[in-house]
Amino acid sequence: MIEVKGLKKKFNELTVLNGIDIVVERGQVLAIIGPSGSGKSTFLRCLNFLEQPDAGLIEIGEATLNVENYTTKEVQQLRQQTAMVFQNYNLFRNKTVLQNVTEALIVAKKIPKAEAEATGLELLTKVGLKEKAGNYPATLSGGQQQRVSIARALAVNPHAILFDEPTSSLDPELVAEVLQVIKSIADQQTTMIIITHEMDFAREVADHVIFMADGNIVEQGPPESLFGNPQQARTKQFLKQLG
Ligand code: ADP
Ligand code: MG
Repeated sequence: MIEVKGLKKKFNELTVLNGIDIVVERGQVLAIIGPSGSGKSTFLRCLNFLEQPDAGLIEIGEATLNVENYTTKEVQQLRQQTAMVFQNYNLFRNKTVLQNVTEALIVAKKIPKAEAEATGLELLTKVGLKEKAGNYPATLSGGQQQRVSIARALAVNPHAILFDEPTSSLDPELVAEVLQVIKSIADQQTTMIIITHEMDFAREVADHVIFMADGNIVEQGPPESLFGNPQQARTKQFLKQLG
């Protein structure tokens, strides 16, 4: 499971995270919604130390890290618990689809190439892209590239997958295929945190939804209540303006 307590982050004088607490049980999906600039990406990036938080406690799977007193080994352990899927896929342009998926297995986990490739092909089958294994990313649509990056995230068998607006860069007609793949993974009890602007999707897939604004959790709850019966004026306003 994931537990974060009192996570704080400033960029110079700008407070971006004001003491964030979350709990995500194993196999559950947490969706984070909120206006642009509210600190959602920073929060996710702090969970794997892509950004260094200023204060707080982070527990993910096997790893526990006190932000104010930690070792590099603990950071390493923390990073091994999650894989991230970014808005812009971040695939290696000069590697094939299969090489993108197997890279971490071969290089970081030292798994023999043949075994890594078998795993890679299995995962590409899961995201519907087995026949693209030998292609380079540039020859794929955005939706296909994002499905590759999801297969790549799954490859390291992380405790949790962190998605930062996984469909925001996609042409509208490509959004559904990516959401479909994420949903199928969620249905297999993968622990996930997803930042998304796709409210229908969050409603359908999330077990719990957090609404963030200005570095604070303004409101949270099960999707039925957060979307169906929001309590805070700020939440109501945000949801209304999305239409
Ligand atoms: P969101 O993902 O909710 O849109 P972000 O976490 O990206 O919000 O950003 C929150 C705030 O932190 C914004 O005001 C943004 O400009 C600022 N910010 C994000 N990253 C940096 C950075 N590396 N340096 C300085 N300010 C940053
Ligand atoms: Mg963001």
